[in-house]
Amino acid sequence: MIEEELSKRLNAPELLDVSAINHAKRPSKTFNVINPATGTIIAAVPDLGRAETEIAINKAEQSLDGWRGLTAKARSEILMSFHDEILKNKNDLATIVTMEMGKPFREAKGEVLFGASFFKWFAEEAVRTYGAVIPSPIPDKRFITLKQAIGIVGAITPWNFPNAMITRKIAPALAAGCPVIVKPAEQTPLSALALAECGRLAGLPDGVLSVIPGLDAQEIGATLCDDDRIRKLSFTGSTEVGRILYRQSANSIKKISLELGGNAPFIVFDDADLDDAISGLMASKYRASGQTCICANRIYVHDKIYDQFTDKLLNKVKALKTGDGFDKEVTQGPLIDEAAVEKVEHHIKDAVKRGAKITTGGVRLDKDKLFFEPTILTHVTNDAVVTKEETFGPIAPLIRFNDEEDVVAMANDTPFGLAAYFYSNDVKRIWRVFEALEAGMVGINTGFISSEATPFGGIKQSGLGREGSLYGMDEFLEIKTGCFGL
Ligand code: ADP
Repeated sequence: MIEEELSKRLNAPELLDVSAINHAKRPSKTFNVINPATGTIIAAVPDLGRAETEIAINKAEQSLDGWRGLTAKARSEILMSFHDEILKNKNDLATIVTMEMGKPFREAKGEVLFGASFFKWFAEEAVRTYGAVIPSPIPDKRFITLKQAIGIVGAITPWNFPNAMITRKIAPALAAGCPVIVKPAEQTPLSALALAECGRLAGLPDGVLSVIPGLDAQEIGATLCDDDRIRKLSFTGSTEVGRILYRQSANSIKKISLELGGNAPFIVFDDADLDDAISGLMASKYRASGQTCICANRIYVHDKIYDQFTDKLLNKVKALKTGDGFDKEVTQGPLIDEAAVEKVEHHIKDAVKRGAKITTGGVRLDKDKLFFEPTILTHVTNDAVVTKEETFGPIAPLIRFNDEEDVVAMANDTPFGLAAYFYSNDVKRIWRVFEALEAGMVGINTGFISSEATPFGGIKQSGLGREGSLYGMDEFLEIKTGCFGL
């Protein structure tokens, strides 16, 4: 079995020593990584904290001048080798994702390829980090700008995309000339360690990329935030933790990117192509069993098509198969932990109490396991918790609407603004609604919006900054102005 074989290799001391903090002495404390589909222990990884984070920062400091002093072309070449290492090892990397996070292997492979795409993209961007010559408004002065690496970067990442959420941060940081220290989610440290190993094989110098697995996220986070040498912090995770990190970064006035929670509306107008809308919803809602921050969270369906839409959706949802992600037939893996299952149960119970009906699903598959049946709720009311909070699970709550203005107001009635989706074939309505929705990303007649070439990020309490795209590297650069007196 590839999983057993990989598990043995993942426990090999060389991998854990080399990748964790670049040859620092391996601490005796470890913690277990659990497969959420089976409950079995996959590996024991070093449990690092403040001391090791400080070692990693010192090493990053030693490597900073060398790394940012390379030509952009030299860095670009190492990034392309990093990309190639990921592709060479894509099956192993995807196996690790499925083992530690649970998503179906096919999806895990998609994530690894998506993750690799950031290295190719930012290898190409690295060599185009242009400054400017500014036409001077003053006769005896001349002005230019340079873009320079901001310094050492701290990256704190979540478990739902254990591979791609890391590459989306480290590829632009490395391309810009910044060493990076990654603190992966405690549930999924193996993908991070394996990526660091790919980086080593690609020729990254010592100290340029370190991974700090550890159970005490608060301590590692505070160490990164408190240290003045970390000039940029990039975080993906909950709004609650984002707020803490934003506050903690204030003392050293760090530049900060936050990719936080969402509460995405998915609106289907009566002029939409229903089959397209159903496919879009299936992609947006049930990918990773509903555990993505851009998942459709509230589905507004026009009254005229509500019943027909529900029937069509029911057919598709009934065809989903829940189970271990290594089973080829499976489309829905487990939820990440018991707390995730309880949140889903709470959202369903609350909606039902307020009048919603469970059309399918609504329960966990097996008492002792983390599998939850893909669920559709109909007759959901606007006061239900499921419309206010991010569920992070496989529930599609369907809400009726009649009027465009009303539905846009309902969609915007949230402190979050990450993704939004709508389906319509009326070109004037498409422009109106696109402009009116308060979200950083809007899917128009599509449920799949992510690409390395497009800016990813939210507005309102969903975050700060953009990842990927031509804007992604600016997050790791400073602009320096040169003023020449003649
Ligand atoms: P989720 O609820 O999806 O697990 P979190 O925001 O709790 O989202 O976690 C995202 C990342 O933030 C993880 O790597 C986690 O370990 C880390 N984290 C959690 N709490 C803190 C904290 N106080 N300071 C720094 N990082 C934290």
